[in-house]
Amino acid sequence: MEEKGTKLSRSLQTRMAMGYAVIIVALLVLLNTYPLLMSQNLMFRSQQTALQNQAVLVTNTLTTADQLTPEGVEAAIAPLEDLEVERILVTDEAGLVLYDTAEPSIAGKFALTGEVVAALEGNDHFISEYRDGTFSSRASAPVLNRNTVIGAVCLYEWDSSQGMLLEELRQNLHIISLVVIGAVLGLFLIFSRVFTRRVSVLLAGMHRVREGEYTHRVTLEGHDELTQLADQFNQLTGRLETTEAERRRFVSDASHELKTPLASIRLLTDSILQDENIDRETTREFVGDIGEAADRLIHISQELLELNRLDEGRTIHQEAVDVSGQVEKTCRMLAPLAEESRVTLETRLGQDCLVWSRPEDVNQIVRNLVENAIKYNVAEGRVSVTTRLERDRVRLEVSDTGVGIPEEDRSRIFERFYRVDKARSRAAGGTGLGLSIVRDTVQLHGGTVSVGPNEPCGTTFTVLLPAWLEEEGMA
Ligand code: ADP
Repeated sequence: MEEKGTKLSRSLQTRMAMGYAVIIVALLVLLNTYPLLMSQNLMFRSQQTALQNQAVLVTNTLTTADQLTPEGVEAAIAPLEDLEVERILVTDEAGLVLYDTAEPSIAGKFALTGEVVAALEGNDHFISEYRDGTFSSRASAPVLNRNTVIGAVCLYEWDSSQGMLLEELRQNLHIISLVVIGAVLGLFLIFSRVFTRRVSVLLAGMHRVREGEYTHRVTLEGHDELTQLADQFNQLTGRLETTEAERRRFVSDASHELKTPLASIRLLTDSILQDENIDRETTREFVGDIGEAADRLIHISQELLELNRLDEGRTIHQEAVDVSGQVEKTCRMLAPLAEESRVTLETRLGQDCLVWSRPEDVNQIVRNLVENAIKYNVAEGRVSVTTRLERDRVRLEVSDTGVGIPEEDRSRIFERFYRVDKARSRAAGGTGLGLSIVRDTVQLHGGTVSVGPNEPCGTTFTVLLPAWLEEEGMA
């Protein structure tokens, strides 16, 4: 698992690293080319302006003559002291070199190079190239006399000082790039180690919880997404822990409930089987008790099945059910029990108390509450059942003047198998599941159930269910 976690974070890291690497490489390529190209261009342009200006200066001094001669050219150029070029070459209209400052000079020879030919054709010409740290530039211009080309002037310049500047810039950019690569790599390594460690903590926590250690919580410092993930995971684990604890308690309670009637069945059958002289009357009595224990088992399993159905949240075959009608029916059914317990049952039923449900479900709610109100009552006590339509909900109230429920137990009585007075509940045939069924049924239909004291004594249960209004049926 640990290995898997590391692999996962590695693959995440690899993807992140690739993404960053592409961005960094693109930036570095840009950094190492764009400024250099821009500077090179600027330098070319400044060379071009400088050289072409000087070419114009030279041609202007030569245009006065009708024909160019070596002596005439030398005499005209000699005063131009501030020319800052490496070489000046002047030809006549045929390309014969009349003047050349190069060592050795090619004066007296024909020079039909590209720049000379371009100038003799009447065009200004400039070309510059950068190689091995040196800018070599050539500018040429025609010498005109009355619009006739009488010669060409070519100026040559080799500049290594600007080339050095460019070279320095290139080197500095290389150093900056290396520093950036080093810093990015270092930061990435640090971040990725921290990231891997945090992800591993989270995955190790998940592994432990998966193995059933529901009390485990992941601790991650910081306020980033991973911390939020850890918080969510801890909350989820908390819920799992609660659910698991509830499940265990339920299984243990259910087994306990089933054990009691099963143990009595076992005891009674043993008594019948072991006593050979047992008389018919006693046998009948024991078999009757076995029947009662079996009834109790059937009752518990029916309630458990009912709870299971509610857990699944199935709400099929619903219809508009009149709560008042169901109360009337239930009270009629429970009248003998009330009479037997010497409890007075009274009802105050409202009109139009319709809810969207199943008659069995409403009956279930009313029966459990009214039966409890009778069971946990006192002789000469009273049970009063009220129904009322309150705007968009139906209120059902079951109040009794019975033994009451201590405040500390009120929040727990809806839990499965929870009983305040175990002995009394068992004696009355209770399973401790009735109120859980009431709560789950009410919630399934979008309602609420609450419990409070009744004045001056006893208990009041209040159920609120969404009312089914006539218009809904017509809509
Ligand atoms: P039971 O099958 O034991 O009646 P319930 O889930 O219906 O189980 O009720 C849970 C417990 O709540 C009961 O055991 C009883 O102690 C208490 N109780 C329920 N209704 C009343 C009431 N009207 N008056 C006093 N105690 C009640």
